[in-house]
Amino acid sequence: MTATIIDGKAFAAKVRGQVAEQVARLKADHGLIPGLAVVLVGADPASEVYVRSKGKMTVEVGMNSFEHKLAADTSEADLLALIDKLNNDPQVNGILVQLPLPDHLNEDLVINSIAPQKDVDGFHISNVGLLGTGQKSMVPCTPLGCLMMLRAHHGSLSGLDAVVIGRSNIVGKPMAQLLLGDSCTVTVAHSRTRDLPAVVRRADIVVAAVGRAQMVPGDWIKPGATVIDVGINRIEKDGGGTRLVGDVDYDSCAAVAGAITPVPGGVGPMTIACLLANTLTATCRDNNIPETTGLTV
Ligand code: NAD
Repeated sequence: MTATIIDGKAFAAKVRGQVAEQVARLKADHGLIPGLAVVLVGADPASEVYVRSKGKMTVEVGMNSFEHKLAADTSEADLLALIDKLNNDPQVNGILVQLPLPDHLNEDLVINSIAPQKDVDGFHISNVGLLGTGQKSMVPCTPLGCLMMLRAHHGSLSGLDAVVIGRSNIVGKPMAQLLLGDSCTVTVAHSRTRDLPAVVRRADIVVAAVGRAQMVPGDWIKPGATVIDVGINRIEKDGGGTRLVGDVDYDSCAAVAGAITPVPGGVGPMTIACLLANTLTATCRDNNIPETTGLTV
């Protein structure tokens, strides 16, 4: 069997197109332009690349992008004061603080100071609690993107066995909540899981979010299963240089799976598309305008 490739790049372009259409409608019908504020503390090169591409895509879908670059030694009080200002700025519908933060800043405190309705990353404890109790919330972008692709591929996920490998607050746990919400039977595996291969072999859906290059081989995959690879790992290439790979061994898994997301070009592009979708959703909720179905849960 050769797996269907789930093209996250094309899917993300479609989602951004839908967001752009809705942004144009908000402007025409309500005179509203959604605004996304991104706060970057320090000059981590990878974070700078993310922030730049987020800003570019925000503008491309017709939203306002507000970038706040702060020095690495910014005090917690100054950062909290900026967030407070953004919380109270009607031009700003979404706020994202780029993680990781420098060590002297308390990440939990900072994230929980964002107004929950503007927390487009979905990391505020209120949003985590709302998602966990099946209520409307801001949903973390990466698992939201995974869910959108799974729904598009399967239609209904009801009754399917799903195994999420990884239990991080950013990916694994919210992914498990979303799959439960769609009536999957969910197992969350992690570094202490006994006999991981046997656990993964039960799954109709495997979501790998570990951060270990190519750790899931094809012989762990049930024939016909859907494999969503969240991992982004840089490894040495045979002939020199580096390349990006996921948490699953693509070639051996694609030979057994029914469908699989590639790395790059799978989950990654969906994350920013979902950030834009969340900013649109936040703007609609803030103004009592019906939300666009399919762009949120
Ligand atoms: P994390 O380090 O916070 O969590 C990793 C999880 O993997 C932990 O819960 C741990 O228990 C589990 N784990 C570690 N070793 C394991 C093992 N041997 N067997 C089973 N489980 C094991 O990582 P994260 O933030 O969830 O990110 C995971 C991966 O996803 C990383 O490669 C990251 O770069 C990538 N990521 C991609 C996107 C995207 O947009 N595509 C977004 C976020 C994260």
